Amino acid sequence: MNKINTLFQVEECASKNGEFQYRRDLLTGLQCRIAPDRFHRRIDVPRRPDGSHDEVPCVFCPERVHYDTPVFPDGSRITIGESVTFPNLYPFAREHVVTVITEAHDPAEIAAGQIEDALCGQIAAFSGNDDYVSCNWNYLPSAGASMLHPHMQGIADAAPTFHAGIAIDQSETFCCRTGRMYRACLLEQEMGGSRHLFGDELPFFAHAVPLGEKEVRAYLPVRCIDELEPWCGLLAEGIERVISLYRGAGHYAFNLSLFFDAVGRPDRGFRAFCSLIARINPSAAAMGDSAFMERMHLEPIVMTLPEDLAGFLP
Ligand SMILES: [Zn+2]
Repeated sequence: MNKINTLFQVEECASKNGEFQYRRDLLTGLQCRIAPDRFHRRIDVPRRPDGSHDEVPCVFCPERVHYDTPVFPDGSRITIGESVTFPNLYPFAREHVVTVITEAHDPAEIAAGQIEDALCGQIAAFSGNDDYVSCNWNYLPSAGASMLHPHMQGIADAAPTFHAGIAIDQSETFCCRTGRMYRACLLEQEMGGSRHLFGDELPFFAHAVPLGEKEVRAYLPVRCIDELEPWCGLLAEGIERVISLYRGAGHYAFNLSLFFDAVGRPDRGFRAFCSLIARINPSAAAMGDSAFMERMHLEPIVMTLPEDLAGFLP
């Protein structure tokens, strides 16, 4: 059901696992999503990054992940290496999957090979999906993860998130105006410069206008998730290096998003990119209330319907 007036747009989306809304402020174009079911994640329970207050084995641990998590409509979960991919129990996207990355509940290190397998799990989950896809990772509760056990989240919707929409639209406008792809111009300008961190075939750059602390971006030579697989190895190695860079600088928590165009659209010059930001929190023991949607996609997930707020008045 779509409710449209001249000022705000509300669109309901229901899935097997729950309901949520897309909302858009038609004055500014800013978007959010409202997912009341996400209150049920027990996010009021204090969590410590050392795992000492966590229930172990948690539902993402190997003893439970193959039995106690949701399954795809055909009854399956996707297993690649140690990674296990399945539908999110509390979705806020038309298609919303979780990929548990490691068997270990709280590993000291996460290897490139484990990240690569998890990315391949996400690719498999979105095989045949024509929507706008992103792959995302909130690492540690202080970066907004409700589960300590390392996991990625993939989302797909008929419309792009706020940041993805701007990046795709403006990349196409740039290409139209200059006759060149933005990615080509960026590489030409940044390769070998002070912001070029490493990588040649798949370079990683400190982003010139960071969205968050120590933002690092990698611009891929592909547009959609169905073209990602040959690049997963290099991308995962780069992500592992950025995580090492963050740890060397004293940051453990981070957010990551990998933005794609929709498979069904024509190629008008956008290329996928992966962005990471380090998270700094006064209390590492607390769960942050901003995660990849708020920090990377610039599209907040909230749990309370504005129409219910008056009910909280004393
Ligand atoms: Zn676990």
